[in-house]
Amino acid sequence: MLQLLVASTNPGKLEEFRLAADGVAVQIDILPALRTIPAPAEDGANFLENAILKAVYYSQFAPGQIVIADDSGLEVDALEGAPGIRSARFAADSGLVDSPDANDNTDVWNNIVLLQRLEGVPTESRSARYQCVVAAARSGKVIATGSGSVEGVILEAPHGTGGFGYDPLFYLPELDQTMADLDPTVKLAISHRGRALDALLAKLLG
Ligand code: IMP
Repeated sequence: MLQLLVASTNPGKLEEFRLAADGVAVQIDILPALRTIPAPAEDGANFLENAILKAVYYSQFAPGQIVIADDSGLEVDALEGAPGIRSARFAADSGLVDSPDANDNTDVWNNIVLLQRLEGVPTESRSARYQCVVAAARSGKVIATGSGSVEGVILEAPHGTGGFGYDPLFYLPELDQTMADLDPTVKLAISHRGRALDALLAKLLG
């Protein structure tokens, strides 16, 4: 059984990683003592660089084991790709809140900022995509990466209670539902993170 340690404290992401391990020969645990390890500066130029930087950094705290980390975000065409790698910090960057924190209302504020920035933008120009890169590293060296994306449209008001982050505003035209309307298993099957994980696991298990 392939054993992976996840370096993420985002509860929404953790739930998706755990779900991804169901039914495959992979055991996913949280990197021990993750909360006591200072987070690295996420100063990469793109999702790939940030995912690798995080996986490599955290793998030094569990020598010999495979540590995985993801970097993900929302790219909105009408905002020239923003918030992109700054997705978790969209409201903080705009000065609306002090700092991002997965346990507070950051997601709510980020969604408010997104709606403000898109005010007056018609539906046909509200196209967007989620991007995700998952990187695996062992003892400070990257060993594999996987990437995935999913296309959608940003709604003018939130809908649905599942998922996390921008999910209530991310509408999937083919399903006529938002990401937050989806059952977690369905979300993982079609989402950027699910696809990135599949690609990574295919390399690690292959
Ligand atoms: P990261 O922790 O630096 O990868 O930041 C990812 C941010 O992108 C999250 O905090 C969310 O704001 C957004 N995001 C990434 N994946 C998802 C998703 O599956 N649903 C909703 N928002 C997401």
